[in-house]
Amino acid sequence: GGGAGGGPNIMKTVIIGSGPAGYTAAIYASRSGLEPVLYEGNQPGGQLTQTTEIDNFPGYPEGTTGNELMDDLRAQAERLGTDIRMGTITAVDFSMDGSSPHRLTIDDGTTIEADTVIISTGASAKYLGLDDEKKYQGMGVSACATCDGFFYRKKTVAVVGGGDTACEEAQYLAGLCKKVYMIVRRDVLRASEAMQKKVMETENIEILWNTQVRGLYGTDGVEGAHLSTGVDLPIDGLFLAIGHHPNSDIFRPALECDAEGYIIVKHPTTETNTPGVFACGDVADPIYRQAISAAGSGCHAAMDARKYLSEK
Ligand code: FAD
Ligand code: NAP
Repeated sequence: GGGAGGGPNIMKTVIIGSGPAGYTAAIYASRSGLEPVLYEGNQPGGQLTQTTEIDNFPGYPEGTTGNELMDDLRAQAERLGTDIRMGTITAVDFSMDGSSPHRLTIDDGTTIEADTVIISTGASAKYLGLDDEKKYQGMGVSACATCDGFFYRKKTVAVVGGGDTACEEAQYLAGLCKKVYMIVRRDVLRASEAMQKKVMETENIEILWNTQVRGLYGTDGVEGAHLSTGVDLPIDGLFLAIGHHPNSDIFRPALECDAEGYIIVKHPTTETNTPGVFACGDVADPIYRQAISAAGSGCHAAMDARKYLSEK
């Protein structure tokens, strides 16, 4: 306790989220004396724990896995002194008038106070919005191939989407399943050239262009999908990979967000419209959404928090 200007129980810096942005902010904050307390949330390690190989994070000449990378980042933050805690923030009070701290409510009901808050809550998978998705959730509908793909060994599945995630999920599932359809709403993929090439070269992936899912059918689980083309496609599982939405709900309306919910920051800093509150990583990034850019902005957030505290 006893932070810059804070009272005895006021933390200097609370970091919300344990993805690449949160852990990098923690590494920098620890090393600059901000004594950060980091709340992991319900997905420790963030989105990368849902994927397999990571080939584009600098420093791993042979590539790495999502879990290994996140374990490494966590270990580094911990070694440097970050207080890593289980828990999810359920509400915030950023109504400070310049002298009082920010208040955060944890899911165990406790309230904490902090002079600076670094938001790195990332993003979560989007769904199509069909009633059938809810009906068959956990019974054939998934948004994470590496989590659930195992249940569909030697079966037939479909992946919805045409971005990097969809290609990666399709690729991963192709190694387990008999057949993988990619259901793509346009006649092109949005994914990078490298990912597209991999998909095209995989024999048991078939792309259904200009196609959308209208509904699902099946008695005890998914047995098929009704497609916009009029076709009923027999499948055992449907994997959604149509992008993510930023986890900013609990910060609104306190913080200014764009139409899609991304927290607006004063580029090139990570400052939000509330003094002492900073946002980094996917929750504030509608464009790049990469692990390395999330990590980079986490560094910026810790440096911005340090500057704010030293000026306070
Ligand atoms: P996230 O990784 O999303 O982490 C958010 C964290 O916030 C989580 O720990 C969560 O528990 C926590 N949280 C959320 N809400 C709360 C709350 N209320 N209280 C407390 N904690 C909370 N990028 C690459 O560069 N290379 C790749 O190969 C790559 N592959 C990917 C594969 C898949 C399947 C997906 C989905 C994404 C991939 N990405 C990849 C993108 C990359 O994962 C993200 O850009 C990156 O993880 C964003 O980091 P982040 O720290 O902003 O958030
Ligand atoms: P994305 O790039 O936003 O792609 C979403 C895909 O889903 C698009 O093809 C989109 O179609 C489609 N889609 C969206 N809404 C739909 C709907 N309602 N019905 C049908 N299709 C719909 O999302 P992402 O693939 O999750 O990637 C997010 C970010 O993470 C990107 O920056 C990506 O580069 C990064 N990422 C990187 C890697 C890697 O480097 N290996 C791996 C995974 C993710 P349209 O094209 O028609 O809009």
